[in-house]
Amino acid sequence: MSKINPDHNDANKLALKYALVFTDLYCYEGLLQLDRIFTDSLASADASLCQRLIAARANPAALDKNRESELLIELAPHVETFIGELFGIDEHLYALSARAAALNPLYSCKKKFVQRVAKKVGVQTISDEAAQSVVDRLTTMFGEPFSEMAFARHVMDWLADSQVHAEMLALAADFAEWAVHSQSGRQQYAGGVLFHLPVPVDPMQLVPLERVQVSGAEALQGPRASLRHREGFKLTDGGCDLSGALEQAHYCVWCHHQGRDSCSIGLKDKEQAQFKQTGFGVQQAGCPLEEKISELNLLAADGHLLGALAVACVNNPLLAATGHRICNDCMKACIYQKQQAVNIPEVESRILKEVLHLPWGFEVYSLLTRWNPLNLVRPLPQQPSGYKVLIAGLGPAGFTLAHQLMQGGHSIIAVDGLKIEPLAPEISGVMAKGQRVQFRPIRDINVLYESLDEPAIAEKKNSRTQIPSLSPNHLKCKLISL
Ligand code: SF4
Repeated sequence: MSKINPDHNDANKLALKYALVFTDLYCYEGLLQLDRIFTDSLASADASLCQRLIAARANPAALDKNRESELLIELAPHVETFIGELFGIDEHLYALSARAAALNPLYSCKKKFVQRVAKKVGVQTISDEAAQSVVDRLTTMFGEPFSEMAFARHVMDWLADSQVHAEMLALAADFAEWAVHSQSGRQQYAGGVLFHLPVPVDPMQLVPLERVQVSGAEALQGPRASLRHREGFKLTDGGCDLSGALEQAHYCVWCHHQGRDSCSIGLKDKEQAQFKQTGFGVQQAGCPLEEKISELNLLAADGHLLGALAVACVNNPLLAATGHRICNDCMKACIYQKQQAVNIPEVESRILKEVLHLPWGFEVYSLLTRWNPLNLVRPLPQQPSGYKVLIAGLGPAGFTLAHQLMQGGHSIIAVDGLKIEPLAPEISGVMAKGQRVQFRPIRDINVLYESLDEPAIAEKKNSRTQIPSLSPNHLKCKLISL
């Protein structure tokens, strides 16, 4: 890999630490230098951890799965700190961690109180009127407006001395039962995390349906309340927010500790010989990439979102093309088989979005696809091999193969049957006919976003095939191609 793009820091004010420049992040020599700086900085912070990293890189196969997980989890916060300093975004990373930590009372209260008091299904809850009266009384006791967070914080305080606060906790328990089990409570708190408990799963009824009469015939339809109006190609499901994603990360039981992270390695039968199958005969092989999901959930729950992304990128560097709305093989093999699985794709997508929305977040993610110190086998691209490879077909398999081969030091040319809209050369660094030009670092990811409606229209006008191509993944293809 050669230095093809001149430094372009001035125009975009990207001032990297350690005397590095933007183009260093996109060439073999620069990444090699970056890796040396990282290991030196790790050695100063924790010499023995650095020794373990060096030994693991020298012989990755000698590390069993548990020891590898432990090592990556210990390293991830160091990687996060290093990248924060490299891009000068450490304050933003602290703020992100603080936002995550501020949500912790919700997850503690849910685990230690709501799940315990509301675990019995079919109990008689208080009436809606009584629930309102309990809210009024609790609001007075809180001394602040009623909210899930206020409930969680105060209940956690009261639990510290439950005898003194017995009356308050009894009121809170009545309310939690109502919010979890009554129809009005479930509707009111459907969008929250505190009173939303995992429900049993019936594989034969994964999608709730209602029977209705249409022109004298019986028909099945989804519940009216959950219908979403679709306009053009725009997404109707924006995914969950940080509180929803971290709720799932806390719901995970981090099975890698027991070597039973079936979401990643697959759900095996008792003899550990065969993968189990779902009620529909689908093999529960887990994530095809064996993404380190349990470790990622643990780091995310701990507030290390960039560290979690780095762990995910070890096996799945192009995770912008997976996650929410794309795949769920991992969920099918989650250890929770009788109740809702951990929504891993939501966690993965939210972590990526949080990092992308940091200043220089796109460059941070982009860097992790090329240099990732948590990748013990190939932390940075290999030296140019001299091989040129043509890839036909740029679906997920094609572009993932392209990335893997590029990391292996090969030059890639890829073609696809459908028209792919070229990116502006100043952000892709490539002209339509392949000449390399200067490109600029992306500070704000929003400059790359497009409405999914617009590319479809443009492609209809320009496409030789008249097929509006790649619309759902258009943005992701753009991100990845950078
Ligand atoms: S996602 Fe499910 S299987 Fe995977 S570690 Fe968490 S609980 Fe275990």
